Amino acid sequence: MATRQTWQKLYDLLFEEYGFCGCPLKHETAFQLLAAVMLSAQCRDERVNQVTETLFAVAPDARSMAEMPQETVAEIIRPCGLFQTKSANLIAAAKRIMEVYHGDVPDTMEELVTLPGIGRKSANVLLGNAFQKPGFPVDTHVRRVLNRIGAVDVQEPEKIEMTVNSKVAPGLWCNFSHLIIRHGRQVCSAGRPKCGSCVLKDMCKKRGIKKI
Ligand code: SF4
Repeated sequence: MATRQTWQKLYDLLFEEYGFCGCPLKHETAFQLLAAVMLSAQCRDERVNQVTETLFAVAPDARSMAEMPQETVAEIIRPCGLFQTKSANLIAAAKRIMEVYHGDVPDTMEELVTLPGIGRKSANVLLGNAFQKPGFPVDTHVRRVLNRIGAVDVQEPEKIEMTVNSKVAPGLWCNFSHLIIRHGRQVCSAGRPKCGSCVLKDMCKKRGIKKI
């Protein structure tokens, strides 16, 4: 089990390399981030940003989204894939936000996960990026990188999240997740990790692997 000092070193090395990353999903409000996060499932951020430009031009907030015909939303978001499920969830979430939360996206984990299509990962994205509250989203990159390094030895996202929550200062969680995701995309990729040029190589258990 990695110590607090090891976790801090991990953060510091990644921060030196990438700095503050910010959320790659374009948004102006919490609702727009919620919509973008929903569309990002199995879809690249660049494509989500292209699609949300069109989507937010016709439905920029929960009120307008709740009144949209599903077939219209589905057609707009088709390039993101899974468009039937995503459009249904998007409209259902907008309706719940209107009916239960008076048009404002709630800002607690407990409330966020009651919205259709929102799980812990998406809720943590919202907490950290829309509400500036502690949130550590665990995606496939976070799971892979932290396991390869040896910081965790567990696959369940919630257990990884709880480990980080217990070892890392809450104020760092959001950027820490961004940093690991960026490192996973640029260096510690699933198929071809570039261990030779990796800033974490001296502390990585899996250094030199070709593939896990
Ligand atoms: S040394 Fe290799 S396996 Fe370890 S974190 Fe870096 S790229 Fe990933």
